[in-house]
Amino acid sequence: MLEIKDLNVFYGAIHALKGISLTVEEGELVSLIGANGAGKTTTLHAISGLIPSAPGSVVSLDGADLRKTPANKIISMGLAHVPEGRHVFARMTVEENLRMGAYILRDQKQIASGLELVYTHFPRLKERRRQLAGTLSGGEQQMLATGRALMTEPKILLMDEPSMGLSPLLVKEIFAIIETLHKSGITILLVEQNAKMALAVADRAYVLETGKISMSGSAKELAEDDRVRKAYLGA
Ligand code: ATP
Repeated sequence: MLEIKDLNVFYGAIHALKGISLTVEEGELVSLIGANGAGKTTTLHAISGLIPSAPGSVVSLDGADLRKTPANKIISMGLAHVPEGRHVFARMTVEENLRMGAYILRDQKQIASGLELVYTHFPRLKERRRQLAGTLSGGEQQMLATGRALMTEPKILLMDEPSMGLSPLLVKEIFAIIETLHKSGITILLVEQNAKMALAVADRAYVLETGKISMSGSAKELAEDDRVRKAYLGA
């Protein structure tokens, strides 16, 4: 479904991604793990078209070249992005935030169906739909950012560090939601520093080290690999 081949990204003279390749097949949950500054966020930004990639890079969704597609069109092709740090609109209500996620949709029926989908996965957002987003807890804001991305009923969801800044209990809750989304048939590419949780929920995973993929395989294999255990699982 999603194919990345020889992806190179430069920030001026900094070569942030050095020819990475990865695939995500329909229905899979694939995790991309790595330390601070490895290039995880850059990878997601390059896929969503938020930053340009170098000539010769391949980023394709169901065979369509995303590098030639404007970011708003990428959303209508079925790809949605939950950004690092959530970025909810603090002075807007929960429901207004969700409606912002559907800004590319004109059809009221589609918007209503998006809201229904989000409220089914996140009953807590339904309870709080008139509350200002800035007054939600960190975990609830992560639910809202995820819900906002679900409004267009995407085929594939890119999630950037959903566990960031959350207590261990909330991290568990967010990962349980990610598993439910995966089981409901949504394809997910998950970027995480929390390698333990990311490997526990994924089908497959890639390890990113200073802009290069250093290892890949089934999540189970990687979780048992000595190098991964030492470097990322605190073993
Ligand atoms: P983190 O988990 O800390 O967000 P990451 O794996 O997501 O890390 P990136 O944010 O993708 O890493 O950063 C990859 C590299 O690119 C880092 O060396 C970073 O300093 C650099 N970088 C990221 N954004 C920019 C930018 N706008 N300008 C210059 N360098 C950047």
